[in-house]
Amino acid sequence: MLQTVSKAFFHVLAGSHSLKTLASRYGMRGGGGFARRFIAGESVQEAIDAARRIEADGLHVTLDYLGESVASIAEADAATRAYIAILGEIAAAGIERNVSLKLTQLGLTVDRATCVDNLRRILDAAAARDFFVRVDMENSPYTEVTLGVFETMWQQEYRNAGVVLQSCLPRSEADAVRMNELGARVRLVKGAYKEPRDTAYQSKADVDAAFVRIMKILLTDGTFPAIATHDPAMLDATRAFATEQGIDAATYEFQMLYGIRRDLQNGLKREGFGVRVYVPFGREWFPYFMRRLGERPANVGFVIRGVLSER
Ligand SMILES: Cc1cc2nc3c(=O)[nH]c(=O)nc-3n(C[C@H](O)[C@H](O)[C@H](O)COP(=O)(O)OP(=O)(O)OC[C@H]3O[C@@H](n4cnc5c(N)ncnc54)[C@H](O)[C@@H]3O)c2cc1C
Repeated sequence: MLQTVSKAFFHVLAGSHSLKTLASRYGMRGGGGFARRFIAGESVQEAIDAARRIEADGLHVTLDYLGESVASIAEADAATRAYIAILGEIAAAGIERNVSLKLTQLGLTVDRATCVDNLRRILDAAAARDFFVRVDMENSPYTEVTLGVFETMWQQEYRNAGVVLQSCLPRSEADAVRMNELGARVRLVKGAYKEPRDTAYQSKADVDAAFVRIMKILLTDGTFPAIATHDPAMLDATRAFATEQGIDAATYEFQMLYGIRRDLQNGLKREGFGVRVYVPFGREWFPYFMRRLGERPANVGFVIRGVLSER
């Protein structure tokens, strides 16, 4: 209940222009800006530096150049060009070649065909440099179209891409079977967006139970699934199921977000599991940051302390 209210509250705040202006002024300022807990930086170089530190601990990375819901074809084109340039910078830096992106960043809400073209441009550039590209999942109006665009790419023989499914959506169990049949790599998450009652489970218990069911579908029949959560109960359920079924830990990985539960990230690594950290960066960090606050209202405390100490 609290979680639902909190997501809704931060969803409303995320739309506030004045709050965004205020946050942008303080959030990433200097080394101690309050948003730096969750965002690696505004530049690709800062993200690369963060990735190097994470890799030095034996963890894997995926870099996300933040941006979503662009409003014009020109902006979608600019985001696409930026992504392609970033691939070059990541390759030159010698860190792992793995990125995550959102389709509304590439123009999905403006024109689907343009978005498909933009994704193809990125996948071509990525394939030429041996990158893996994860297509993040956004809120439920985009679930079917995101999977549809992904399947279009798959039919066109793009194999250097994967998708995300959210356990908060009852449809995701069938989608997991659908993606397993393709042989596509799936990242399983609980879902970060405020969703309507007729579309999504509203209670944590239902979301968690679905997460465990989908995890089993992916571990049993999927292709190198990613179990993306910081929830110790979900991690335990995954390890227990894999042990019970004799599933090799090398056939799946865990994923977590930059700045969240580093203790768990390192602990799983020490136990011998593959762990990938999602490293977000870029100037458009405000909506991502607000989703992280909405997941855990206690995070607001450290933001307030950060703002007060910087004034
Ligand atoms: C690698 C990765 C990629 C993701 N990609 C997507 C995506 O494409 N689409 C999408 O909708 N969602 C995505 N998410 C977000 C996801 O849907 C959840 O909103 C988020 O992971 C919180 O859920 P949880 O599984 O950690 O469990 P929860 O039950 O929410 O949290 C479990 C515990 O984790 C810790 N925790 C969780 N969130 C926070 C936080 N913000 N700050 C501090 N501690 C926290 C707390 O200790 C909490 O008790 C992604 C998550 C990860 C890890």
